[in-house]
Amino acid sequence: MPEQVDATEKVHCLIIGSGPAGYTAAIYAARANLKPVLYQGIQPGGQLTITTEVENYPGYADGVQGPEMMIDFEKQAKRMGADIRYGIATKVDFSTQPRKVWIDDEKLIEADAVIISTGASAKWLGLPSEEKFNGFGVSACAVCDGFFFKGKEVAIVGAGDTAAEEALYLSKLCTTVHMIVRRDEMRASKIMQERVLKTPNIIIHFNSVTDEILGDKTVKAVRIKNVQTQETETIPVNGFFVAIGHEPNSAIFKGFVDMDETGYIKTIPGTSKTNLEGVFAAGDVQDKTYRQAVTAAGSGCMAALDAERYLGEKGL
Ligand code: NDP
Repeated sequence: MPEQVDATEKVHCLIIGSGPAGYTAAIYAARANLKPVLYQGIQPGGQLTITTEVENYPGYADGVQGPEMMIDFEKQAKRMGADIRYGIATKVDFSTQPRKVWIDDEKLIEADAVIISTGASAKWLGLPSEEKFNGFGVSACAVCDGFFFKGKEVAIVGAGDTAAEEALYLSKLCTTVHMIVRRDEMRASKIMQERVLKTPNIIIHFNSVTDEILGDKTVKAVRIKNVQTQETETIPVNGFFVAIGHEPNSAIFKGFVDMDETGYIKTIPGTSKTNLEGVFAAGDVQDKTYRQAVTAAGSGCMAALDAERYLGEKGL
């Protein structure tokens, strides 16, 4: 337990995380009079705040900038009466009821119901040029940003199912997709590999790593290195996609909430319920398949409705 606990507060419904899942849960929970308190976490607004234009969220007929959309989500949650706060959940104790959550290592919240919507973070290669061009040709989401590279040449790094799926998606929009695979084989399932291999405009560069992403204001090329021959090659591309996996932001819940081997929280199919009564999970922290803003929002709605039912049944 943290040594200094400044204050303890009792909360009816606590929501951790402020992406589409968290804010949607807050909207529904507030309208159901659950008096939700939402802590925004490290990146208020979540992953959408690092994307540019969002064109596939229904209701925004002309598209919307990711950060702007998340401000709209926040405003709507506040208008419904949700209590939105800065702060990071740093530790939990779900062995007792009410559930205990520490904010910024100092404030203790005791909550009757907890909705975990802490999201996931894309893994990055760690190159300075990757950071420099993030949002200017570098992206970790082909479904979000692929459209901006219609009719252009792109590269994608990674060799799992996500990379394969995204390479196939990009192949329908782009002239050529260069897939950069660090080993002599792909990790993706056989069927996905076959699809990739059969697609004429996907060129696979096996045994290759990304040496540098090149450009001025936007990406113009990628330099790759063959790890066997040490030879480098510069490929002109306008887009560079990173698809080397995501990490669910679930570390603080380990030991309390059931997770799969990669840290995604397990929910009972068709619900947002975890293995613990009164603890629900929504959004990317429990979804490694769809990972879309709209699916996250949908599961946030489910979590609020599940929490409302739970609190009602328990008479809390
Ligand atoms: P994975 O962890 O399965 O794959 C990550 C890929 O990125 C691997 O090929 C890995 O290479 C590569 N990689 C990791 N780090 C680096 C690096 N620093 N440089 C270059 N390459 C790197 O992640 P995914 O997101 O693809 O998939 C996650 C899970 O979700 C999997 O279980 C997958 O099956 C599942 N999934 C299922 C889908 C479906 O069924 N339709 C769709 C999408 C995902 P290496 O192989 O050498 O380790």
